[in-house]
This record gives sequence, structure tokens and C-alpha cells, in this order.
Amino acid sequence: MTDLGIAFKDVFGRAPEGSWAAPGRVNLIGEHTDYNDGHVLPFALPQTTRAAVARRDDGLLRVHSADMDGGAVELRIDDLAPGVAAGWATYPAAVLWTLREAGHPVGGADIHYESTVPVGGGLSSSAALQVVTALALGDLHGVEMSRQDLALLCQRSENVYVGAPVGVMDQTASACCTEGHALHLDVRGLQQRQVPLDLAGQDLTLLVADTRVKHAHSDGAYAALRAGCEAAAAELGLSSLRDLPAGGLDAALDALADERLRRLTRHVVTENARVEEVIGLLDAGRIRDIGPVLTAGHRSLRDDFQVSCPELDLVVDTALAAGALGARMTGGGFGGSAVVLAGAADAAAVTAAVQAALPAVRVFPATPSPGAYRLS
Ligand code: ADP
Ligand code: MG
Repeated sequence: MTDLGIAFKDVFGRAPEGSWAAPGRVNLIGEHTDYNDGHVLPFALPQTTRAAVARRDDGLLRVHSADMDGGAVELRIDDLAPGVAAGWATYPAAVLWTLREAGHPVGGADIHYESTVPVGGGLSSSAALQVVTALALGDLHGVEMSRQDLALLCQRSENVYVGAPVGVMDQTASACCTEGHALHLDVRGLQQRQVPLDLAGQDLTLLVADTRVKHAHSDGAYAALRAGCEAAAAELGLSSLRDLPAGGLDAALDALADERLRRLTRHVVTENARVEEVIGLLDAGRIRDIGPVLTAGHRSLRDDFQVSCPELDLVVDTALAAGALGARMTGGGFGGSAVVLAGAADAAAVTAAVQAALPAVRVFPATPSPGAYRLS
């Protein structure tokens, strides 16, 4: 039996029926654009959340995580309902509830989780947890669902059950990415394209710097930003800010009275353009040249969207001063992680400089890795 299977047996006293893995992600560019019907370009990390699972026929969901104190959490699936909080177990409970809501014949289960995705680091450990749960329960119950639909189901579980108005990028990245590629997702029509991203082949390294800070107001701020973007679109007579082309930005900014809505609009419109610019450069084999676009994205998030924080700014500024080609915060902001593009020969010096500037930071190289898969 695998280590994961042995850990499952230690907790639940029997063997699992199978095991699955789902990765965390970084977003290369396209931040706060997913809930504006726009463009994102994430790739999956080698770090995964793994789950060993066996079905139960007594209507119980029992979940255990090697990464959380407090032992196994036991829930009756008939008692699950939006808003019923169960700590971290709310995420798997939400996925199970949403599968059943969608009409899938999914019953109880024992699940043991272990993760190498930093929890709360802006690298989507929460999406990895959702996606591995949905994939495992779906496989065990013979649910036929595309990966994109699985991601949408996980997003719905977070929107409806957990109560967080998140977009669909993180779950899609965890479910749909492929090795060696970033995933261009156009959220409007949910079109996907795998964009080759061979960093090593061009002597480049993409570093992730997890600041290990998470500022407390992040959840409320996210909802307020989303509401602000929707208000701006409504004031401009658009169904979403996605519908505002870069060429129409100046006129739109003149039309918006509120300074905050102007800033939010400028970020979303310029960020969508940056995603398209980065994709064009990657398709042309010019990975190195995306550096300045990443850095421009950071400035827009810092100054216009105002979701950066001193620690993320310090990482970005320090990395650039140490010779990085580009750097930006990644994920929702208010802490979490930054991505840094550097020449392979400069990566060690950039890492050392960032670590010296912010001793708590954890820096590691990231290679584009596969989306969720069955392990055994
Ligand atoms: P991020 O997704 O950036 O890592 P979030 O705050 O969105 O941060 O999600 C972190 C939460 O997800 C944790 O507080 C916990 O509730 C849940 N979670 C993530 N990974 C695990 C895990 N391996 N075991 C148990 N819960 C987890
Ligand atoms: Mg998350």
C-alpha cells in the first residue's frame, strides 16, 4: 500500500478504494479578470493535494487532513446545507453537497488528505482540495463530467455553499492544466487553449515567492472589488468589463464619476490586454520578453486595483533590483505569493536577495505541471 493508503488505514481502519491528486496553481498574468468575464493564464504547480478515498453507505462523510489539527471531521450528508460551516471540512462538504444538488448519485465517503501546496499562500490549496474531492467522488460514483464542468461545479460549491464570490480560474487551472503549458482560459465562453511554456528550454526560471503573510481583510475586500467591477460595468452599460476594449478605455474613464471605479476599470481593461500580449509573446517563442509585461501587471494591481501589500511590493522590487526579468504578485492579493521570471543563471542570486529582504519568505522554482489525475 502507498504511504497515502497507509495513512488512510491508520485513520479509518480499512483500505481506500483509490487515490487522486490535484495541483495548486500560479497565475502568470490575468488577475481579477476571471469574474469580469476576461482572460487568465495560470499554470499548475508540481505541488498537489492528494486524497485517499473509500465510499460509505451509511450517509456519513468523514474527512481527515494530515495538514490540519483536530482529527477527523464527521458530517451527515443529509445535514449539509449552504452556510453550515465545519472549518476546513466545509470545502469537501460543499463539493459533495453540490455534486448531489446537480443530481449526481454521490453518497458518503471516508477521505484522507495530504498536501504539499502551501495552505493559505495564494497558490490555491483551496481549489486543489475542491478539485481532488470532486474528481475522486465523481470517479468512484461513475459521474461523467468534463474537466471544465468539474471546475465549474467546484466554483459553485464555493460560491453557494462556502459563500465566497470567487471566479472560476483556480479550479479550472487545477482541473485542466497540462504539463509544460500555461492555460489560456477565456472565461466569457470558457474556451481553453494550452500555451507552450518551456522555461528551461530558454534558460529561464519562474520563481514563486510565498510571503507567508495573509492580511485579515482579504475576503471582504475581494467581494467589494467584485461588486465595484460590476458597478462600473453597469454604469458603462456593459454586461461586464470584458466588453470594454482597450481602445475605448479613455472614453470610459471620462464617463465614470467615481475615482475608485475608474481605477478598477483601468486595471481590468489593461490586464486583459496584458494577457493577450503575453500569449502573443509565448506563441512567438519570446518568453524572456514577457518580463516587463508581468511587472506592468504588478504596478496595475498595486496602484489601480490596490490589492498588493508591502511584503509583495518588497519581493517584486527586490527581485527586479537583483536582476529578475519581471515580477508580480499572483492570486487575489493582500498577501500570498509573487511570481518572478529570471534567467536560470540569475535565479540563485534573485532568490538570495528576496530571502534577505524578507526572511519569512519561501522561494521555490515552479515548472508547469499536470492538472488533476488519478494516482491509484
Ligand atoms: P489558498 O487557496 O490560497 O491556499 P485559501 O484561504 O483560499 O488559501 O484556502 C485555504 C483553506 O483551504 C484552509 O484554511 C483550509 O480551510 C482549506 N485547505 C486547503 N488545503 C487543505 C488541506 N490540505 N487540508 C485541509 N484543509 C485545507
Ligand atoms: Mg484559495
